[in-house]
Amino acid sequence: MKNQMNKATAHECGHLLGLVANSNVLDGIGGHNPSPSGRRIMNPGPSTSFFHKLGRYGSWSWLERNAGYLKFILPKKEEEK
Ligand SMILES: [Zn+2]
Repeated sequence: MKNQMNKATAHECGHLLGLVANSNVLDGIGGHNPSPSGRRIMNPGPSTSFFHKLGRYGSWSWLERNAGYLKFILPKKEEEK
């Protein structure tokens, strides 16, 4: 249950930061990943199985395009600038 709460929080923060907006820049459809696989944070909720939600199949991660967007918009450490 804790895993699902963490994933949901990360997912909603992704929305707050404009992640997967409907555009071809971020490849979004309806604010979510267009081709959801099992454990991507911005997948639409209904595409995710109960066991995936519980974290039974491993940890969650961002699609590479989602992660690249977050790295671009979020503040960077001084040594990363
Ligand atoms: Zn969502």
